[in-house]
Amino acid sequence: MFVDSHAHLQLPHFKDDLEQAISRAKDAEIEAIMLVGSDEADSLAGVLLAAGHDFMYASVGIHPHDVKNADDNTYNNIKKMVRDHTVHAYGEIGLDFFKNYSPRDTQIEHFERQLDIADELSLPLIIHIRDAYDDSYNILNQKKDKLRNGGVIHCFSSDYKNAAKFIDLGFHISFSGTITYKKSTELVETARKISINDTLIETDAPYLSPVPYRGKRNEPAYVKEVAKFIAEINGLSVEDVGRITSRNFYDLFRIESPMNDTKITYKIRNSLYINMTNRCTNSCTFCARENSYVVKGHNLLLGSEPTVEQIISLIGDPTEHDEVVFCGYGEPLIRLDAVIAVARYVKERGGKVRVNTNGQANMIHKKNILESLRGLVDAISVSLNSDKSEQYNEICHSIFGTGSYNEVKSFILQAKDVIPDVTASIVELPGVDVAACRKIAEEELGVNFKVRKFNVVG
Ligand code: SF4
Repeated sequence: MFVDSHAHLQLPHFKDDLEQAISRAKDAEIEAIMLVGSDEADSLAGVLLAAGHDFMYASVGIHPHDVKNADDNTYNNIKKMVRDHTVHAYGEIGLDFFKNYSPRDTQIEHFERQLDIADELSLPLIIHIRDAYDDSYNILNQKKDKLRNGGVIHCFSSDYKNAAKFIDLGFHISFSGTITYKKSTELVETARKISINDTLIETDAPYLSPVPYRGKRNEPAYVKEVAKFIAEINGLSVEDVGRITSRNFYDLFRIESPMNDTKITYKIRNSLYINMTNRCTNSCTFCARENSYVVKGHNLLLGSEPTVEQIISLIGDPTEHDEVVFCGYGEPLIRLDAVIAVARYVKERGGKVRVNTNGQANMIHKKNILESLRGLVDAISVSLNSDKSEQYNEICHSIFGTGSYNEVKSFILQAKDVIPDVTASIVELPGVDVAACRKIAEEELGVNFKVRKFNVVG
């Protein structure tokens, strides 16, 4: 599943083969396309085209190149278009100080005016910036109160520092085919550093074709080349990038998502994850489920916990995956019997099993549970989270209180006797002494050590 968050299929470049381009997009698994307007006539053409295709949506607005021709009448007509159900965004608007087709003062005046209109219409923004990142940021920052519907900096072309500033204002960053060009090292670095949850992908068709189509007319099917490139630099699969950026798109533009179904099993890279439960004995300060149950584009909010039979029916052939991981948003070993039954199924069919746990299972079940995992679990990753008991309590808020940290350490030690590959992990949080945690893991407990980035789940 992929979406093209920015295309101009209503332009004359597609007059001879529009239907073929649409059909190629469908063949390439493009499930949604945002048709972006640049002036009044073009916005209307986008709305009309979207109205005839149930997977197209429209954005209306006046591009900085064209604002010199816009007046009250133009904006009244744009506002009327928003009544159409296909319109989900306002743009592209912004500043283009590279071409300066409209005088700079006029661009600034109309940019500010259109930010007010978009806010009045409650629409997310599609922003065009060229050679005007500082000026655009200053205007948006001054009008922070008009940004409550979010938006995207389309075809981003600056550095990480600027991307981070716009993300702080609530914007997504959208990458086009330009990221695949040899000289785009700064852009590649930006795409690597920002969260994939803040990322969108686009073609800007008919412009800016990605490699290997550079020099030809661009079209929505080619957005997959952008996804492939971003997947490679982020160590994700192209399906991961397609799914995550699609969900970002549906959430930002408030389009009913075909992806809202809860996942019991879900794939990230080439591992299959099992979502056993949303219950947990911790309430970690960094736990992302406080904000959302979506992980790498998968919705993990369970209505009810899945049965062993349901899980097994979804696993299929476990050898098709690098490993089957008990994880999800909750503590899997709360459901010890179910974990054992599913792990047995996987092992009997030649698969590999990993468990990600908070290490409190012995306290939960009031006995040493590790022996029951012997031969069924190949690897276990236990959240150590600190080198000190007091700090562990401040971070994890375990229902078992002050003794939890020492119990987790002893769980890790006991796991070594039963499970071939044991890792103690921490999340990189301010105040956590990484070196001291490493020493405890490697020297005191004699296990592997892993540092997870804050805010990166899955
Ligand atoms: S142990 Fe995991 S699921 Fe439980 S609160 Fe902490 S981060 Fe969230």
